[in-house]
Amino acid sequence: MFIRPPSAPRLALDLTAEEFETLSDGSGLAYRDLFSPHADLPRALRNWAEAQAMRIRGLNRITAERGGMSQKILFGLGDGYAVESVLIRRRDGHTACISSQVGCAFACRFCASGQAGLKRNLTAGEIVEQVVQLGPKVNRIVFMGIGEPLNNYEHVLRAIRILRDRRGMDFPTTGITISTIGIPKALARLREEHLALNLTISLHATTQDMRDRLIPGARKHPIGEVVSRALSWADRHNRLVTFVYLVLPGLNDSPADATRLARMMAGRKARVNLMRWNPVEGVALQRTPDRALALFRNTLTQAGVPVVVRDTQGRDISAACGQLWLRDLKGAPLQPKS
Ligand code: SF4
Repeated sequence: MFIRPPSAPRLALDLTAEEFETLSDGSGLAYRDLFSPHADLPRALRNWAEAQAMRIRGLNRITAERGGMSQKILFGLGDGYAVESVLIRRRDGHTACISSQVGCAFACRFCASGQAGLKRNLTAGEIVEQVVQLGPKVNRIVFMGIGEPLNNYEHVLRAIRILRDRRGMDFPTTGITISTIGIPKALARLREEHLALNLTISLHATTQDMRDRLIPGARKHPIGEVVSRALSWADRHNRLVTFVYLVLPGLNDSPADATRLARMMAGRKARVNLMRWNPVEGVALQRTPDRALALFRNTLTQAGVPVVVRDTQGRDISAACGQLWLRDLKGAPLQPKS
């Protein structure tokens, strides 16, 4: 389901180093060359891919919008769908905010990506290629684009293993962040992986009722289990887990919410990112006043919970995930599928 149309040739970037070595045995080709950011890849590699009925590259840049330190790129896929990635320039490198699915099943009220539903999973190669195309200065990857990464677990984890392989890109695992609404079963699997990733949970509520309203697709995932699985991951890996909380006036910003959130996190390997709402056309949510945000923050700080307040990056080019995709394409394929 939702994997890849059978007619689409496989991407060479779907291959692990072992698979590549098996398929290219004795040819003298280097796995590392598959990840070259240059358009002119070695002819021998291109010939080999053709003989294998594989494509070396499958993503086609359709549009790019620049705003401040961010650049948002809309990539066309082999079957006519599109996803978007955001490149964020920092002083010490670039961050690639990448997509894991075409659309999303979770329908968060504050997110454009969820409004058109889930179309299909991205393959590992399509995930890896976003990073390759965003250029050699990328030293952080965040799965915060379109889609819920733990709802495409196999391909996302395969992509991470490909990205970090020493024989290929050799990307540091500690520079990779999975941002998820928190699917308990997938969090339990992730806990057992030997990967020093960063984990961010989009919590956004302290009661099941409010979370169901804000993230309708997560109704079957009890909020208590989401939090306990994430904290268990943090204990097992001896890393802090980040809980993201979008503060929305009149919905989840009461003193009782702040107290409940503080109780959940106090004394645990957890920190909280309080997010200011970044208005999206057609979504009737308000931005929390600074004073209310400060009170909320103080409750957490007094409980000893590390907390920061963040604005969405790249606000000026509508960088909340999926907005460009939704505005330009309404979630539809770029061309009719045959
Ligand atoms: S915020 Fe994430 S999980 Fe929610 S609809 Fe958007 S892409 Fe899906």
